Amino acid sequence: MTKTIPVQKNDYIEVVFEDLTHDGAGVAKVDGYPLFVKNALPGEKAKIKVIKVNKGYGFGRLEEILEESPYRVDTPCPIYKECGGCQLQHLSYEGQLLAKEKQVRDVLTRIGKLENVKVHPVLGMSEPWRYRNKAQVPVGEREGGLIAGFYQQRSHEIIDMEACMIQQEKNDEVVQAVKRICTKYGVTAYNEQRHKGSLRHIMARHGQVTKEVMVVLVTRTPDLPNKERIVKEIVEAVEGVKSIIQNVNSKKTNVILGDETRVLWGEEVIYDLIGNVKFAISSRSFYQVNPAQTKVLYDQALSYAELTGEETVIDAYCGIGTISLFLAQKAKKVYGVEIVPEAIADANRNAELNEIDNVEFAVGEAEVVIPNWYKEGIVADVLVVDPPRKGCDDALLQTIIEMKPKKVVYVSCNPATLARDLRILEDGGYRTVEVQPVDMFPHTTHVECVALIELK
Ligand code: SAH
Repeated sequence: MTKTIPVQKNDYIEVVFEDLTHDGAGVAKVDGYPLFVKNALPGEKAKIKVIKVNKGYGFGRLEEILEESPYRVDTPCPIYKECGGCQLQHLSYEGQLLAKEKQVRDVLTRIGKLENVKVHPVLGMSEPWRYRNKAQVPVGEREGGLIAGFYQQRSHEIIDMEACMIQQEKNDEVVQAVKRICTKYGVTAYNEQRHKGSLRHIMARHGQVTKEVMVVLVTRTPDLPNKERIVKEIVEAVEGVKSIIQNVNSKKTNVILGDETRVLWGEEVIYDLIGNVKFAISSRSFYQVNPAQTKVLYDQALSYAELTGEETVIDAYCGIGTISLFLAQKAKKVYGVEIVPEAIADANRNAELNEIDNVEFAVGEAEVVIPNWYKEGIVADVLVVDPPRKGCDDALLQTIIEMKPKKVVYVSCNPATLARDLRILEDGGYRTVEVQPVDMFPHTTHVECVALIELK
């Protein structure tokens, strides 16, 4: 018997929202049939219009809020609705942290089948604005010059932007200056449809502690007319610039950076500090975007690792060696592995920079390198993983289960793949002791977690 769908397209109905989706929409159920409505909050009663009806779920549009959530706030950012970079500004920060905690708990139960895992309240920021140390904005053209900002939601129309409330002010300043200077020297914007024009993206990186600035101009072709003058004016306009990079991306792609990088001025890297460790960061390397919370995250990982100085540690997906170098100060030996060669070059430079000599880094896939290490007799007492959103490769998880490190510390930017991988480790003889979510991305739906897993 097929269940009939209780609503029809274009119906106006009253609903009460009970949950948020992982992308921040409100969820209401009509006779068990879920409707997803943007901008609605749990606990709210509202009139909605049904705009799409699928077999198992539908979508609605918020028409009128009849009873407001006590956590609803006015959104401070004037471009919040058009931009889509943030999804939760209409929810108070306290409400966001509670929602993220619930999301982690729900996903661990639903996907990981982990009942009763201890999930701590989310560690949030005391000042949750202006936190991002990296901006990458698409460039377009309008009469009168270049614009740069963001793609309007669900389109590739670029909206010009002067300020982003989750960016560090310095990055806004860089984008404004580059826009103005490149307009002055007649640089054209890249046109996606015609695959013509020059400047595709402006990227800015800011060392929060050192105040050093990197500017990256991503262009379609290697030539950049008036290069010297553009560079000179950027250096004069923005205090702290230490590195100006041109990145050439000639492909028809949404991927921002291309393979070719040239230093136009200054250094190849900028430096920043997390705690007492200094890092060199190049244009293509991954570096956590919220430096204040990165410290919180790494301290948590370090505290779970409970190192005494005797341990062999493996740091999988190590990037520029950030976690590895933190751990190395308390371990006997740390092995880091990462797929991006430039990141490993940075990692080696970072080890040297901090005079840390008990680390060894390798370029490659964690799921290939770590099994090889294991064959060579390298066995970790503590294994840290910090994979991208898709989680750990199964081959890596199987090697962990064979290698049997006493502890696994799992740093995750996606609770769904964390839950999936925890289930595999649990079935392989491990126990999830506790999970500490950390809010690295206030006002967005993202949530980072550190999980402590022990051999049973
Ligand atoms: N631990 C680092 C980086 C975490 S981001 C930090 O905190 O800064 C995840 C990293 O995994 C990225 O640097 C990415 O390049 C790398 N990566 C992605 N797939 C990989 C794989 N299969 N093997 C090793 N590293 C990988």
